[in-house]
Amino acid sequence: MAEFERESMEYDVVIVGAGPAGLSAAIRLKQIDSELNVVLLEKGSEVGAHILSGAVLDTSGLDALIPDWKAKGAPITVPVTKDDFYLLGSAGKIRIPNFLMPPLMNNHGNYIVSMGNVCRWMAEQAEILGVEIFPGMACSELVYGEDGELKGVVAGEFGKNADGTLSDAYEAGMELHGKYVFLSEGVRGSLTKEVIARYDLDADCDVAKFGLGMKEIWEVDPAKHREGTVMHTAGWPLNSNAGGGSFIYHLDNNQVYVGFVVHLNYANPHLYPYMEFQRFKHHPMVADLLEGGKRVAYGARAITEGGWQSIPKVAFPGGALLGCSAGLVNVPRIKGNHNAMLSGIAAADAAVAAIKDGRSGDDLAAYDADLRSGPIAKDLKRVRNVKPLWSKYGLMVSLVLGGFDMWTNNLFGISILGTLKHGKSDAAATGLAVDYKPIDYPKPDGTLSFDRLTNVSFSMTNHEEGQPVHLQLKDASVPISVNLPKFAEPAQRYCPAGVYEVVREVGKEPRFVINFQNCVHCKTCDIKDPSQNINWTVPQGGDGPNYPNM
Ligand SMILES: Cc1cc2nc3c(=O)[nH]c(=O)nc-3n(C[C@H](O)[C@H](O)[C@H](O)COP(=O)(O)OP(=O)(O)OC[C@H]3O[C@@H](n4cnc5c(N)ncnc54)[C@H](O)[C@@H]3O)c2cc1C
Repeated sequence: MAEFERESMEYDVVIVGAGPAGLSAAIRLKQIDSELNVVLLEKGSEVGAHILSGAVLDTSGLDALIPDWKAKGAPITVPVTKDDFYLLGSAGKIRIPNFLMPPLMNNHGNYIVSMGNVCRWMAEQAEILGVEIFPGMACSELVYGEDGELKGVVAGEFGKNADGTLSDAYEAGMELHGKYVFLSEGVRGSLTKEVIARYDLDADCDVAKFGLGMKEIWEVDPAKHREGTVMHTAGWPLNSNAGGGSFIYHLDNNQVYVGFVVHLNYANPHLYPYMEFQRFKHHPMVADLLEGGKRVAYGARAITEGGWQSIPKVAFPGGALLGCSAGLVNVPRIKGNHNAMLSGIAAADAAVAAIKDGRSGDDLAAYDADLRSGPIAKDLKRVRNVKPLWSKYGLMVSLVLGGFDMWTNNLFGISILGTLKHGKSDAAATGLAVDYKPIDYPKPDGTLSFDRLTNVSFSMTNHEEGQPVHLQLKDASVPISVNLPKFAEPAQRYCPAGVYEVVREVGKEPRFVINFQNCVHCKTCDIKDPSQNINWTVPQGGDGPNYPNM
C-alpha cells in the first residue's frame, strides 16, 4: 500500500455513531458548554438510515435531555393505549392478564415511534446547538496516543479495490482527534470490540449475550388497525428450540411494526431464525391482522441481552462506551433507547467536568460510576435474572421465577436469587449438527411470508461493488473444513440477509460464498459463528441499509 499522510482535525469530543446514545451525548455536551467542539460521525448515508428499533419508547431519557421535546416537534405522537402479552400455541393463544405482570413491564405512558425518525429529529436539535454531524463517514480505525490512550478515529476512507489495493479514486479519510472519544456504535460495534480487548474492559463482567431482531413494517387494512396497541408474544413457533418472541406495534397511518427476536444462544445449528419469523406470521392471530395488508419494509439487527451483569467497564483512557456498545438493553422490556440516551447524558456530564478541569485522554471514572449507581443501574438491576433463567430453564420457568424475581425487586428492591450467571457465549452454545434434527420450514407463500432475498430488497440495502469484503474471515478454510462438517455451517441460516452460502456444484468441492452486498449490518455473524472466525468491519461510509421509517 502506498504511504500517505492523513489530514487530522482536533475536537474536544469525537463521537462515533448517531444513534440515540451518540446524539444524546452530543446534545448534552453543547447544552452545557456551547464553546465545545463536538463532532458526530455516522456510517449511514444519513442519520437514521441504519437505525432499527421496535420501537416503544420510554421517554425517561429524552425527558432528561430535552424536557420540552413535545413543544420542539419531536416525532413522538402515538401514546400506547393498549398493552397485551400472549403465550402462543400453534393455533391458539392465552393472554397473561396485565395485573400479573410486574409494573415495570407496563407500557402505558410510553410511545410507539420510528426511532429512525426520532434520531433524525435529534440530529436537527444537535445541529441547532452547533454539533458537526457527518453522515456517510464510517469510522474504520482507532488512533492511539503516545501513552496508549484512545486519541481519535479514522473516518471516511473510500476507494479501496476488492483486493485491498488503492484505486485511482482512493481517499485516505481523516483522523479526528478528541480530548475524549465516545464509542456509541450500538450492538457489537467493530471499534468497540477492539477497545474492549485492548483495555480488557470485560475482565470483571459476565459474558456478553445477544438476540437477533427482525422487523417488517406493514400497512394493514384500516379496519384492523388499532393505533396505540402494543402486543408481545412468546411460545410458538420457537417453543423449546430457542428463547425469543414477537412484538406487534400499531403506529399511525395504518402502519404496524411486526418484529421477532430469537435469542442467539440456541443450540440446534439447523435453526433458521428468519424462517421462524416468517412462520410466526402464519399464526391465526397474526395472519388475521396482516391479511389484506402489504409489507413495506424489512430490516434486522442484533440486540444486546446480557444486561446488568454483562456491562463491561465503560470508561478507559481517552474514551467511553455508550448505549448498546455497553449493552444497556432491558431484556424483558425489550427497551434500550432510554438507557442509550441516559448513558449519553452521563458520559457528556463527565467529559464536560473533566475538560473544565483541564484533563484529557484519561479515564472518565465518574461516567462509569454514574452508570453503575444511577437510573440505568436501577432499570437493569431489577431484571438481571430474567435472561439467565430463560437460557437455563426455558420460557415457562423464566416467566414464573423471573416474574417473581421482578416483583420482589420492584416491591422490595431485593432478589432472592442474587445475580445469576449467563453461562456460555452465544457462539459456544451452538451444538453439533449430528446431535440435532434438521427443522422443516414451510415455504414462504409470498403474501404473508417472503423469501430472504425478496425481503432484503425491502431494506433498500446497497453496497458498492468492487470494495473489499467487509465481512472478514480470520481463516478462509474454516467454513468448509470445520463449520460445515461440525455445525452444518449455520451462517447459511442465522444470517437474516442471505449473505452466506455454501455452493455445491457437481464434481467440485463445496464453496463458501459471502454476498456482502446483502449485509444489513445486524452483526449476527460476528456474534454467532461457532468458530468465531467472522469479523464484521465497516464497509465504505454510506453503504448498508437505507431504512425509511424504522
Ligand atoms: C428488533 C429490535 C427491537 C427493539 N425494540 C426496542 C424498543 O421497542 N424500545 C427500545 O427502547 N429499544 C428497543 N430496541 C433496542 C434499541 O434499538 C437499542 O437499545 C438502541 O438502538 C441503542 O442505541 P445506540 O445509540 O446505543 O445504538 P444504535 O441505535 O444501534 O446506533 C448506533 C449508530 O452508530 C452507527 N455506527 C456504528 N458503528 C459505526 C462506525 N464504526 N462508524 C460510524 N458509525 C457507526 C450505526 O450506523 C448507528 O446509526 C430494539 C432493538 C432491536 C434490534
